[in-house]
Amino acid sequence: MNPPLSRLCATLDYGFQQPALLEEALTHRSVSARNNERLEFLGDALLNLIIAEYLFQQYPGASEGEMSRLRASLVKGETLAELARGLKLGDWLRMGPGELKSGSFRRESILSDTLEAIFAAVYLDGGFVACRDLILRLYRDWLAGLVSASELKDPKTRLQEHLQAHQQPLPIYNVLEIRGEPHLQSFVVECVTAAVRAVALGSSRRKAEQEAARQALEQIR
Ligand code: MN
Repeated sequence: MNPPLSRLCATLDYGFQQPALLEEALTHRSVSARNNERLEFLGDALLNLIIAEYLFQQYPGASEGEMSRLRASLVKGETLAELARGLKLGDWLRMGPGELKSGSFRRESILSDTLEAIFAAVYLDGGFVACRDLILRLYRDWLAGLVSASELKDPKTRLQEHLQAHQQPLPIYNVLEIRGEPHLQSFVVECVTAAVRAVALGSSRRKAEQEAARQALEQIR
């Protein structure tokens, strides 16, 4: 028999108004037509949104690409399964006997899907803030282990610091070309260091400089 749901609620630090939602989240499709697949669908979207919002707020210097990579590492099945194991979620899972015997890979994905379903159940039961609190609480160690905010400084700052650390002269930025109508301009900017030269296009001089610096850093590495 599964341990009481109240113990899981205590572990999650969340009490359900509607325990049926938690039961549904814990029910694999091998057991019932009323299973966690629809909740998993919603929970996946919530997790992506909440992690995206967190990264957006915490890493103002991070590019879209950097935030995407960080998010992907956090929302992937392996990470979720590890969190689920930490919660001992498997103890509460309602699965058919065939599924219980299935290989560990299947089990990993069942665990991660179940955790996503729980996120949706908390959202439907207690609202967005409750869901966000739960996710950020569960992810606390993972979020703390992410690259420090300083490593995601904007590219111009990172390039400057890199060059200074290697006793090289500071980069020079030149506007090579301004394209388009005055109200819809784009800028072609070059970034020149002792070792490399990068040219980038941006909708403002500042954006073009940042992109050129990013490319220069990539060439240096
Ligand atoms: Mn999933």
